[in-house]
Amino acid sequence: MSFLALRRLFSQVKRHHLEFLAPSNQHGCKYRMISDAVSFTQRSHTCGSLCKDNVGQKVKLCGWLQYNRGTQFSVLRDWTGITQIFTTSKQKEFQDLMKSIKHESVLCVVGKVKSRPDKDINPNMATGEIEVEVEEIEVLSQAEPLPFPVSEFYKISERIRMEYRYLDIRSKQMQRNLRIRSKMIMKMREFLANKHEFVDVETPTLFRRTPGGAKEFVVPTQHHGKFYSLPQSPQQFKQLLMVGGIDRYFQIARCYRDEGAKPDRQPEFTQLDIEMSFVEREGVIQLIEEMLQYSWPEDCTQIVTPFPHITYEQAMRLYGTDKPDTRFNMKIQDITSSCKDCGVTLIDDKLQKDNGNVVAIKVSDTQRILSKKCVEDLKTDALKALGDIKTVVIPIRVLDDGSWQSPISKHLSDHVRINISNDLDLQPGDLVLIAAGQNYSTYEVLGKLRLFIADYLESKDIQVREKDVFNFLWVTDFPLFLPKEGGEGLESAHHPFTDVHPDDRHFLDTHPEKVRGLHYDLVLNGSEVGGGSIRIHHSHLQKYILEQILKVDISELEHLLKAFTLGCPPHGGIALGLDRLFAMICGTPSIRDVIAFPKSHDGKDPMSKAPATVSQCELDTYHIQVKPQQSS
Ligand code: ASP
Repeated sequence: MSFLALRRLFSQVKRHHLEFLAPSNQHGCKYRMISDAVSFTQRSHTCGSLCKDNVGQKVKLCGWLQYNRGTQFSVLRDWTGITQIFTTSKQKEFQDLMKSIKHESVLCVVGKVKSRPDKDINPNMATGEIEVEVEEIEVLSQAEPLPFPVSEFYKISERIRMEYRYLDIRSKQMQRNLRIRSKMIMKMREFLANKHEFVDVETPTLFRRTPGGAKEFVVPTQHHGKFYSLPQSPQQFKQLLMVGGIDRYFQIARCYRDEGAKPDRQPEFTQLDIEMSFVEREGVIQLIEEMLQYSWPEDCTQIVTPFPHITYEQAMRLYGTDKPDTRFNMKIQDITSSCKDCGVTLIDDKLQKDNGNVVAIKVSDTQRILSKKCVEDLKTDALKALGDIKTVVIPIRVLDDGSWQSPISKHLSDHVRINISNDLDLQPGDLVLIAAGQNYSTYEVLGKLRLFIADYLESKDIQVREKDVFNFLWVTDFPLFLPKEGGEGLESAHHPFTDVHPDDRHFLDTHPEKVRGLHYDLVLNGSEVGGGSIRIHHSHLQKYILEQILKVDISELEHLLKAFTLGCPPHGGIALGLDRLFAMICGTPSIRDVIAFPKSHDGKDPMSKAPATVSQCELDTYHIQVKPQQSS
């Protein structure tokens, strides 16, 4: 090897630090190179990187004082791990210094790496074979007593964690989550920009109101009576970029929705926003599958592509929701034909009405855990969650001798019982929940119950869902319009820019409620993690839908309608909700655990106390006066 090549190799080794894959039983160094974490800094190594190979080397470590052990030993921590440092009995002044400084103070330690005596080797610690004998200590920042120990963040209320978010971020979990997030975003960018010529374009966050959709935050301006709105997504801009010939756009976009307090929503959130020209649904779907596979963390269960597809109609009929959790079975079955004229007034009444139906789910062999009272409570919760007062839910228990225990069993003829039994393949020990009512309501009630039952059984340590799997699913063929919530007429099921399904164009004038859209949702383990569509790119169709079907004021969208008349390529796109996706990958139930500085449940920041008041003098520049608070 030439001298130059040797020098290059040496500098490469110096610039990389070693990360332990796992503590080895043989106390050997099991490591792999990971990218550089020390260059440009004062330190020679990170706290998690030293091993036997470094014995004899002089090193410089920087980090937080995790704890002292006796008078001689201390542990220094940074994001990569911990290293034990020690002082000899002759180093009295260092020992006094260490005693005087509080945990979580920041130190710089220079010392020599030594092998630990055999009896002191800690196989559970990545750096457990070595320790560093101190030669110099510099206190870079003396910490005052902490409001809570960093290692015990999980015992602390979330409110306090958020008030001291910078301390919370020191925890292993937050460090891991934020690093997974960053790495995955880098890979996504690499896949899109470097490999597939997507252009990263920033779009404005000061924009105007968009008709329809979620409620937007309003930003006052110094122009009298004029306000900006913070966009709920860069939807219009990304479509306009296609008119502008950008061809393939992406953005890690910050979006805003003022939807009040919702448990796992954030008023500001991040989405990976994508738009492409000259593309059909399958193209967008394939792009996302390949990108997820490319950027998926190596140490997570790997994902298998292509992801399965299901139509909205199938999803509703099998799972009672448009975001099915396919990690467990317990599917909904239609037993309407077996229940016709069954003699139970409650059911017969429902079936005689329009679209009346009877559907069922079977929970196998769990009767002992699901007591009568528990089933009753779950049923009430499901109906309440949906605000459903009409659907009737009836339980049936199949006893050991095959007989049925149910409020309806004595009214049913043997014939009906046998038919239901065959439909559902009932066995002793099974619990059946029947819902009778109007189309889709019955499915939705059982869909909710299916999830509540799974949660309940899992709270009793009965595994229902497959563990450590990532079940992705595409849901397609959504209705384009839905009845307006709390009003007459129709509204867009997603947003007004989604194109009409080519097979349903003929319904647009006469039966718009029957029209499906070219929308697709990406669902992961029962949560929606993305959604997009092929867009309308003809001005006249966009105008027709806005004016004639949705009855919205098109003056707010003149710019878009105009752009569509000046040469607009067919286009489509998607947005992935990154916070939820990362929460699921990191295995945490809350999206707040993957956001460095999230807002609390009520949309506030307990650390800075935002939102805050401003003086009347400042408000005057915006021509605003705050009304006195109404006493309730
Ligand atoms: N703008 C849509 C959203 O934020 C996604 C899309 O249609 O691309 O949900």
